[in-house]
Amino acid sequence: MARTSRSVVIIGGGISGLSTAYALLDQAAAADVALSCTILDAAPVWGGKIVTHRVGRLVMEAGPDSFLSQKPWGMDLCRRLGIADELINTNPVEKKASVLRGGQLHELPEGLVTFTPTQLGPFFRSGLLSWIDLARMGCDLLIPPRRSTEDESLAAFFRRRFGRHACERVMEPLMAGIYAGDAEQMSLRATFPRFYELEQTHGSVIRGMMAARRARAQKPSDGRPRHTMFVTLKNGLADLVAGLTARIRETGGVLKSGVQAEALRVRSHQAGRWMYDVICTDGTPLSAEALVLATPAYVSADLVRPLSPLAAGLMETIPYASTATISLIYPAAAVGTRLQGFGFVVPRVEGRDLIAATWTSIKWPHRAPPEEVSVRCYLGGVGREAILQQDDEGLVRCVREELASIVGLQATPHYVEVNRWHRAMPQYTLGHLDRLRQLEAALSRFGGLTVTGAGYRGVGLPDCIRDGAEAAAQTVRYLQTTSHREAES
Ligand SMILES: Cc1cc2nc3c(=O)[nH]c(=O)nc-3n(C[C@H](O)[C@H](O)[C@H](O)COP(=O)(O)OP(=O)(O)OC[C@H]3O[C@@H](n4cnc5c(N)ncnc54)[C@H](O)[C@@H]3O)c2cc1C
Repeated sequence: MARTSRSVVIIGGGISGLSTAYALLDQAAAADVALSCTILDAAPVWGGKIVTHRVGRLVMEAGPDSFLSQKPWGMDLCRRLGIADELINTNPVEKKASVLRGGQLHELPEGLVTFTPTQLGPFFRSGLLSWIDLARMGCDLLIPPRRSTEDESLAAFFRRRFGRHACERVMEPLMAGIYAGDAEQMSLRATFPRFYELEQTHGSVIRGMMAARRARAQKPSDGRPRHTMFVTLKNGLADLVAGLTARIRETGGVLKSGVQAEALRVRSHQAGRWMYDVICTDGTPLSAEALVLATPAYVSADLVRPLSPLAAGLMETIPYASTATISLIYPAAAVGTRLQGFGFVVPRVEGRDLIAATWTSIKWPHRAPPEEVSVRCYLGGVGREAILQQDDEGLVRCVREELASIVGLQATPHYVEVNRWHRAMPQYTLGHLDRLRQLEAALSRFGGLTVTGAGYRGVGLPDCIRDGAEAAAQTVRYLQTTSHREAES
């Protein structure tokens, strides 16, 4: 007897939606579930925030430029798509990063970032923290773990364990900067749960990090090449998107770009089996037994509102910050040796518009010809969004003035590009994990309806890939249980 194909629609074709579609087709085939999977995206191109383009021989990223290799899901996906050979490491020679303090750049000693202070010399020489500050950091070894189960902010955690100066000058710009967020409002457990776990298991972050380092050193090699903390694809992250869309098509998925979902409706609900209608701007009605919303949380909120005002309200409480990336290309001769390391971050206490600057052609030398130097500057983020009201010329002027004053870069770039990211960075504020639990409970009433994406369980690419695969697994489980029920009735 021919099996009926089960229809699934995924809304949103960023890395989360594409990873969901890829994993869904793969897992459904393994579970012998016949599937018709459609993925739609409002934009004409796939990939959402992943936007790579070329300027001459230079590979430029407008959005994410790399991903963490330690979180395995990004690396695994590249292997499964057959593009692992394209992975590149950061420059092994120039690997230092700096922090701005009092208008001057101070190199970050390596052990300071990883909390494994094997050599004290570089710490003292960096001038970033005084002897007293370093002694205060060492108190982490003595301070007992916090017993309260209440959520704690990133800033409160690091101040408590390492002191105010280490928090303001090192942890805040490095960690809150990733989210373009405000460390005073960010939930430690939702953003950096590992630090919470280290404190709870080892009684100290430093002790926990040292133990992890020892364990890594003792672990036998798996024969795979070793990678730096961040990796990327030689010709740009768009290759990850291209690999995913190609594989989704090959395995029977239907990709519809330029189609915006406007509303959702429950068409029917009988014997635990649901049917949904997706109303699209192009007038195509789409029916689905299972739906995965992989859009930003505020878009998903509008879509689910008619079904569950409670779920919509919870999604709406996830704030999003706006940022802009400004890329500048200079002739290498005009820059000389002025730029060292990978760039620098700017602590909030410095009161400047710039969040960070990356010397992209130094960090990723495989992606730039030797006669050019590329720089990427970041503006905006929570509490610093006012600058984004300026026009593009104003933003370029701002970063050029900052670069001139901080590193003495006065040269005129021969190419400039401004990319604005409106409501792009979800903020996991205090209480985020509780709200997430309530959201999951509110959605659990609706069979086969799942949400995924950067707004919920991790903003980085590897986390989005992992969460997409989890949304796919939930969908396959739902389809299996409903088909079993049908077979029994
Ligand atoms: C400037 C910047 C730099 C970053 N740098 C890094 C980095 O270096 N490393 C890293 O790991 N992460 C980085 N991130 C974070 C990471 O890029 C994002 O968290 C991730 O790409 C989000 O993926 P997503 O699929 O969840 O959402 P998105 O990429 O936003 O995808 C959502 C999709 O939904 C579509 N959509 C919206 N509304 C509708 C609708 N009504 N109907 C149909 N489709 C709709 C959109 O067109 C979009 O394609 C960066 C983010 C930004 C903004």
